[in-house]
Amino acid sequence: MKEPLVVFTDYLARKNLKMTPQRRLILEIFLKESGHHTSEDLYNIVKKSDKSIGQATVYRTLKLLCESGLAKEVNFGDGVTRYEQQYGFSHHDHIICEECGKAIAVVDDKIEQLQERLAAEHGFVLTGHEMYLYGICADCRKKDKKLKADTED
Ligand SMILES: [Zn+2]
Ligand SMILES: [Zn+2]
Repeated sequence: MKEPLVVFTDYLARKNLKMTPQRRLILEIFLKESGHHTSEDLYNIVKKSDKSIGQATVYRTLKLLCESGLAKEVNFGDGVTRYEQQYGFSHHDHIICEECGKAIAVVDDKIEQLQERLAAEHGFVLTGHEMYLYGICADCRKKDKKLKADTED
């Protein structure tokens, strides 16, 4: 597997773009931060290392990272675009808590196979899918219960 830096440099070269120190720093920070981050989250981290980098540069670089296959946009139904690492990570789906916004990566072989079977029944060969499950996480349910108990007293 090629290093992410090589993947990105090659991609930029194909687009006649240069690997600048700014792009390199944004890539490094993106790779270091695991999980799902908005462009603004990453901008707030980037500006601690380099104040000269603007929010628009971070946003545009994230778009380029997506196009190069290193990053992926994820949408958890709250209208906010977040980015996660894609390169070298195997396929996974997400469960999102509608109360606190926590998102966890999940994968279930049976569900994956069922999706392929469903597609085949309609004459398709699957090339990809996104599955987002929404609910209330255990922590938030505990809090809700406590809140109810408190008001009932
Ligand atoms: Zn899946
Ligand atoms: Zn929650």
